[in-house]
Amino acid sequence: MKQYELFINGEFIPNGSREMIDVINPATEEVISRVPKATEEDVAAAVDAAYEAQKSWAKVPAIQRAHYLMELVDLVKENREMFARTNSEEMGKPLAQSMDEAGWLADYITYFAAMARHIKGEIIPSDRPNENIFLYKMPLGVIAGIMPWNFPLFLIGRKVAPALIAGNTVVLKPSSDSPNGCYEFAKLVAKSSLPKGVINVITGSGAVVGDALSKNPKVAMVSMTGSTAAGKKIMATAAANVTKVSLELGGKAPVIVMRDCDLDATIEHVYNSRIINTGQACNCAERIYVQEDIYDAFVEKIVARFKGTTYGNSLEGTFDMGPMVNKAQQEHVDELVKSAVEEGATIACGGHKTTVGGKGYFYEPTVITGCKHGMRIMKEEIFGPVLPITTFKTLDEAIEMANDCEFGLTSSIYSQDWDTIMRALNEIHFGETYVNREHFEAFQGFHQGVRQSGLGGDDGEHGLEEFLETHICYVDYDLKTQGK
Ligand code: NAD
Repeated sequence: MKQYELFINGEFIPNGSREMIDVINPATEEVISRVPKATEEDVAAAVDAAYEAQKSWAKVPAIQRAHYLMELVDLVKENREMFARTNSEEMGKPLAQSMDEAGWLADYITYFAAMARHIKGEIIPSDRPNENIFLYKMPLGVIAGIMPWNFPLFLIGRKVAPALIAGNTVVLKPSSDSPNGCYEFAKLVAKSSLPKGVINVITGSGAVVGDALSKNPKVAMVSMTGSTAAGKKIMATAAANVTKVSLELGGKAPVIVMRDCDLDATIEHVYNSRIINTGQACNCAERIYVQEDIYDAFVEKIVARFKGTTYGNSLEGTFDMGPMVNKAQQEHVDELVKSAVEEGATIACGGHKTTVGGKGYFYEPTVITGCKHGMRIMKEEIFGPVLPITTFKTLDEAIEMANDCEFGLTSSIYSQDWDTIMRALNEIHFGETYVNREHFEAFQGFHQGVRQSGLGGDDGEHGLEEFLETHICYVDYDLKTQGK
């Protein structure tokens, strides 16, 4: 069985008597690896290493930093299949989706490497004679990259690439449910010529390791992707040092389906959005509002689509879905489905925990009809292959229900009427809205949530800004002549 070691200052640190965490394949329930539980001293050592390394990393010209990133891209590409298998084994993702994700990791780093020559400041006219005002864009320092389990490869790219190109160094803390891919990435970092300490990887619980990172005064920003509950704790902890936070949190994406949509295309998009990654994506379709005239037709088609969904061990066949990531997530989904039934909804298909060959934390692909907007299943993040559906009469009503939510990450509308779409885009209050397509963001966009879905954002030029701070300098260039 694989035993991973903390990666600090370019070295793997022997585990010695450190406590270890079992990593479980959710399809087979077998322990597949052990990762170390870092102590508070380990966290401090990792942050110190990143802090020292950042002093010289910031002085490396950005284009040279890009060359280091491209070296990592080549290594990731060479090891794409290994990364994909690791990902499928530790969190159950279908292999084809894991291959895509390993590809995104390489592409995402490439995208930000190309930003090297685009980081620039400003020269602002002064009110005084003989003065220039220079606004520099500077790195922040050490970034703590705290990651969830659902896209463990892609998230490495999101935390590392913009941070490094901007001149920061990082301490990564992957989730204990899917840390193996990040440690495999650390092995490639160790092989590369990247200076020691620029990327560090540690593991442990959020409550100990994540918390120690969030309160370390040498951490300049906590860039965290995960649940809203954990995000709130990080914000509170980081407040002690007024440390910047960038939080990508949970979602409850509403999908508004208008009577004039292309129904068959809509069904495909909604289906894919809910089934990908076994429904465990922050911007998956989480609650469906269908205009009453086409409600029956929509339900009939989507139920047929869900019933045809295949699932199983992603390393033993080609399936639409794998298992839930762990038992707790399986129980959480089941509890929400039961609450919907208790509140009066109807299960049109699925609705149960299940296994494949007697093992695994699987959940049946599930459609729930007759939901009401106020039900728990329409308010709380499900994060599983469960689609609750309700109906509405007018666009006003649909927009009001969509906005009436503590989350504000992703939303979508399906319609072929321009006026309807434009009204929705202006009145829906979410970080992202998709029109006539499933929910998946582009590297060059800006992924961010409003309300309790986050603070700050990732991707594109605006995402890069998160990893930079301004330094404004007033330069009086001719003291001798001033005032004469
Ligand atoms: P989680 O909040 O349980 O854990 C995320 C990370 O935060 C883990 O590394 C965890 O150890 C750490 N953590 C937990 N408590 C902490 C604390 N007190 N201090 C510091 N760190 C702490 O989330 P998860 O279950 O791993 O992931 C699923 C959640 O992530 C869902 O809510 C999903 O919507 C969200 N998510 C959001 C996005 C986005 O871009 N908005 C993307 C992926 C996942």
